[in-house]
Amino acid sequence: MSSQRTHITRQGNATLRHRCTGCGGCCQGVRIPVYNDQERAKVERAAAHLDIPDPIQDDALRMSKGRCVFLADDNRCRIHSSLGPSAKPIPCLQFPLIAIKAQSAPNTGSEFRIGIDPASYGAWQSWREGPPLPDGPIVAASPPAPGGQDRVEAQLVAMCEDPQASVPGLLSVLTREPAPRGVLPPGFAKRWASHLSSIDFEPFLTNEGVGPNLRAALKPVTASACKWASGPLPWPDRLSSNDEAWAIEAIRRTIFLRLLPQIPNVSAAALLLLGGVVAAAWTDPRPEPFNRAITGWQRALRFSLFWQTLASDRETMVWLGTGQRPNSAGAAS
Ligand code: SF4
Repeated sequence: MSSQRTHITRQGNATLRHRCTGCGGCCQGVRIPVYNDQERAKVERAAAHLDIPDPIQDDALRMSKGRCVFLADDNRCRIHSSLGPSAKPIPCLQFPLIAIKAQSAPNTGSEFRIGIDPASYGAWQSWREGPPLPDGPIVAASPPAPGGQDRVEAQLVAMCEDPQASVPGLLSVLTREPAPRGVLPPGFAKRWASHLSSIDFEPFLTNEGVGPNLRAALKPVTASACKWASGPLPWPDRLSSNDEAWAIEAIRRTIFLRLLPQIPNVSAAALLLLGGVVAAAWTDPRPEPFNRAITGWQRALRFSLFWQTLASDRETMVWLGTGQRPNSAGAAS
């Protein structure tokens, strides 16, 4: 069992804003780790009180049909309702706040990073004007360092922090394909449309662990993908600047908080995150469906199965990013 956790205290040096919508989506299709024996005892006590068998599986809260076994039908946490918030496991207690001790390349130390999980379904509605999270003690995880890619990680975070950043612009930099402002790099758009239209998403969507909220959030995008076989759509000018800004902030948080540790290449993770924003915008750029889709995409990418469904092999990632097939003489964009 992993016990690489550090207790730190957050004191409002950065205002983190969030309002929970109570949808229960964050308790579905997710792995909630049980950090140590003390946490294990706490969860088992709650389960005994609520008459829930086998609450822990593989050092995490057990999921049933993609839902935490403690989640009631009305999407309320039964531990919270029956025993109070302090009886919940630590990740649930401090959610949506995520804290990490970010190890850097060997001998360059580490730093604490704190942020709100961008894959919380309500995050897009309250990231600017929601109530500030209270200060208090928190527990920081220690995800693996992105092997030797600290500089790339810092560059990507800085690019997302630029107030002038745009989704087409970030894709242009990542793919090294120039494009006029507000226009998707045409080679990437063509490759991405053709790639998505060729994918069978059903095995992922029907996987029991995905859970109903994530399935519903992702379904409009996967159902639209087959239409893109005839070619990419333009970057929609109907997408609001606020929604584009949130999409970029969500990508920044995912990279900064190292929320995709299973994707070994930070640039590849950024490309897939940006690709998800493009797919959501092509599907429906109106605020509610667009933001729901990008939240689902962010959450889905945390599943190895989704990442593998999209492009886990180096050859496909290189092709998506550059149009080149490794070990092949010609471009294939
Ligand atoms: S223990 Fe409660 S808060 Fe935590 S995932 Fe389960 S239902 Fe959600």
